[in-house]
Amino acid sequence: MSTIAQLFREKPCVFSIECFPPKQTTKFAAMQETLRRMKDLHPDFVSVTYGAGGSAGGVSSVQVANFLKNSLDILPLAHTLCMGSDRHKMAIQLDDLRAAGVRNVLALRGDRTPLRPESPDFHHASDLMDFIRDTAPDMEFSGACYPEGHPEADSLAADVANLLHKQQAGAVHLVTQLFFDNGKFYRFLNMARKAGITLPVSAGVMPIVRSSQIERTVKLSSASLPSDFTRMIARWQDDPASLYQAGIEYAVHQLRDLIEGGADGVHLYAMNDANVAAAVYEGIRDLL
Ligand code: FAD
Repeated sequence: MSTIAQLFREKPCVFSIECFPPKQTTKFAAMQETLRRMKDLHPDFVSVTYGAGGSAGGVSSVQVANFLKNSLDILPLAHTLCMGSDRHKMAIQLDDLRAAGVRNVLALRGDRTPLRPESPDFHHASDLMDFIRDTAPDMEFSGACYPEGHPEADSLAADVANLLHKQQAGAVHLVTQLFFDNGKFYRFLNMARKAGITLPVSAGVMPIVRSSQIERTVKLSSASLPSDFTRMIARWQDDPASLYQAGIEYAVHQLRDLIEGGADGVHLYAMNDANVAAAVYEGIRDLL
């Protein structure tokens, strides 16, 4: 099985999907079925979130990554967080991943939530990356980036400049926060390249297929909404079937433009929905 670094060297556009572990262990069987269906979409890798949104408990990221790797033969990218962790806990987590044969991690600081203590050892994702590089040289790590700037950064330029810490630490690739306006991605990429970021970047796209997703997604991601997008929502928000279809079409349009525009990779925030992922994949498979 290739590693993520190899995939980006070999493929013009790497296709990946994000999934999240269910909060209840009883839902793991259903999730396994979802992942089995997603295997038909031939993702180059599947990333597994870690306590995203501040939740904890339930099925662990390691369990999901293990299932992907050893039952489905899909390359997993396991998210790991500074928040709530320290050098000791992280060493154990990396051992657990290694025992499952997982060698790729997405090293993140983590969302700040009242339930999650700051790490005494890792303040920025790049501190965690330094730790992984120095203590687990068999692991490859990737990092996050933000086409519209991280909300805590003074400016987009300052945030882009901070990506150099991730590159210098040895990250092999970056995955973007979701966005709805490809123009923001191209501008960000241009700035990053000018700032000396040479790492491959996966562009993250989330299909919005239900009106309930809109407020939460926008709040969590701080993504700006282009007029085509707000028009789509305004037109179909009271018509669930049409919104579903329009949301798929919007994501397909975004992804086709990104692939044709030369993106190193596209990352589908599929929200554990195999039907949505399959519908989007149908719309882009000829380009992959
Ligand atoms: P950092 O890289 O540490 O950046 C945080 C802030 O510090 C930024 O403003 C940055 O500009 C600045 N900064 C970075 N490095 C330095 C430095 N060396 N010196 C000074 N300033 C610096 N959250 C979860 O809880 N679980 C998940 O599974 C998860 N998955 C994610 C996947 C992706 C692709 C993305 C984009 C985000 C994900 N998140 C997840 C959310 C993420 O944890 C938050 O956005 C968090 O606030 C920042 O994480 P980071 O790794 O980008 O942090």
